[in-house]
Amino acid sequence: MPDPKRVFRFAPSPNGELHLGHAYSALLNLKLARAAEGKCLLRIEDIDTARCTPELEKQMLEDLEWIGFEWDEEPRRQSQQFEFYRSALKRLEEQKLLYPSILSRSEIRQKVAEKEADGNRWPRDPDGSPIYPGDERFLDAEEQRSIIASGERYALRLDMESAVGVSSFDWFEDGRFVEASPKKWGDVVLARKDTPTSYHLCCVMDDALQGVTDVVRGKDLYDATAVHVVLQELLGLISPSYRHHDLVFDNQRNKLSKSNRSTSLRALREAGNTAQDVIEMMGLELA
Ligand code: GLU
Repeated sequence: MPDPKRVFRFAPSPNGELHLGHAYSALLNLKLARAAEGKCLLRIEDIDTARCTPELEKQMLEDLEWIGFEWDEEPRRQSQQFEFYRSALKRLEEQKLLYPSILSRSEIRQKVAEKEADGNRWPRDPDGSPIYPGDERFLDAEEQRSIIASGERYALRLDMESAVGVSSFDWFEDGRFVEASPKKWGDVVLARKDTPTSYHLCCVMDDALQGVTDVVRGKDLYDATAVHVVLQELLGLISPSYRHHDLVFDNQRNKLSKSNRSTSLRALREAGNTAQDVIEMMGLELA
């Protein structure tokens, strides 16, 4: 019987076809979980209900089974847990750490261009998006409430300066503590008018609820961990240990993407490859 003390998870979003990178991450989690005699969970991160369709989810499960991924419990589907995430938002709201922001993407671009007109570059977050340039966090509680009551579109953002304060944050990465720099992200979105959660919020809530001890995921999410440890602290959650693995690149050293069919598991299978061929193709040691 597996020892359930160590819990790993693979948490894909069914918003496109899985590619070699997903297969690598899934199989690495499985291998580490089996080696530790722990559990390996599958979590379906489908809060974007417009892009994550039942058809894509069905294909995703088929692809995972084909490549040899196994999971130990009924998968958790985030689109069915909105109330749970709402309760976390409420706790952050009680701490007065959220505010409604109203600038659209194009208004953000415009405002950033205005701020950069004097030649000074406006800061970007680790993903390359501008730090939110709006001023709504300075509105008083009444004004903020009226934005929400207006029925207009808004996004709830974390007031990062207040959330971090003078504290320092770190996380446990592959056997050592690394310093987190959450302020580099600015005021991240934690929910939208029509979606009561964001990736960051449901990821930390579910990792804690599911007793995940080991988060093993791609290096593209390394920097996001800084946001996750702040949320864990604010919500009183235990921080798991992290390992961010190398990404799989295509022959031109480009990051794989769900929009590029050539490296999708489905396309590789249709081209006659076996699961073993695909595992060899990943070119990375599953260790
Ligand atoms: N759902 C995320 C993705 O597909 C992964 C989240 C995670 O592993 O924390 O990129």
